[in-house]
Amino acid sequence: TGVLTTPPFVGPGATSDGHRVVLGSNVGAPRDVARAVERGAEGVGLFRTEFCFLDRDIEPSIPEQVAEYRQVFAAFPDQRVVVRTLDAGSDKPLPFLTADDEPNPALGVRGVRTARRNPDVLERQLAAIAEAAQHETAEIWVMAPMIATLAETQEFAARARGAGIGTVGVMIETPAAALTASELMGVVDFVSIGTNDLAQYTLAADRVLGDLADLADPWQPALLRLIGLVGEAGSATATPVGVCGEAAAEPALGAVLVGLGVTSLSMAARAITPVGRRLAELSIDTCRSAAAAATAASDAHGAREAALAILG
Ligand code: PEP
Ligand code: MG
Repeated sequence: TGVLTTPPFVGPGATSDGHRVVLGSNVGAPRDVARAVERGAEGVGLFRTEFCFLDRDIEPSIPEQVAEYRQVFAAFPDQRVVVRTLDAGSDKPLPFLTADDEPNPALGVRGVRTARRNPDVLERQLAAIAEAAQHETAEIWVMAPMIATLAETQEFAARARGAGIGTVGVMIETPAAALTASELMGVVDFVSIGTNDLAQYTLAADRVLGDLADLADPWQPALLRLIGLVGEAGSATATPVGVCGEAAAEPALGAVLVGLGVTSLSMAARAITPVGRRLAELSIDTCRSAAAAATAASDAHGAREAALAILG
């Protein structure tokens, strides 16, 4: 780690004809912060706050949370850091918050749903994020995971704004959220598509089962069509639309996502240089043509082939 094999991509991210695409990094562990800075990330597109809570039997106090968040924010002065509130449950269990006896944990009380029974945990987290933001120059955006309905979006937005958060968003990780994206955009300032979960729920294929990886493939036309709906809603309402799932890390797919209307990509730090370079070689029209061809394909393999034929 820390050994640079290629010089880092020098942003800002954009297509060859200057269509701007913010290239952020995902941060899911303390070591990711230095890597993101090293690889030239334009801030953080997904701060997975679970790592500040894992290995703990009880919830960290507000001052403890403030200290953890400030460490991340301080590494990105004047840059954007998109903080995701706790995404506990399913693949990320937390002893003080989630049940371990659900028959279908991926369909259970996870993500923002944990606030139904434990609203105080979310309240304290939002208070800690708002306080940490006051001490640092990073521009803090805050979003909720696992949103399914407009009502959940309204409730989260009200809580976050009440806590003093200025820029509030939701993740699009369920087909329901993708299909209603334009309504959700009426209450939040931005959305970010989590393609790992959106693929899992669209294809009804567990994201951690290697045997079903062909179904949970981000090139599945059904997934691309849902992303296209969100991109169109974003363009129509001038709402930023990010992608922060693994799909954003594959250069050709990143170009297709941009063609579908996505305005920022967030990925593991090591992917920033290849994704940034690829995008810089392509015009926005080429990205849009590749997106149209991939979306019209009849399967994931065909979608990838069709996009690559256009992207070169
Ligand atoms: C996703 O679901 O695509 C996502 C970015 O969130 P996570 O992988 O943490 O569930
Ligand atoms: Mg997710």
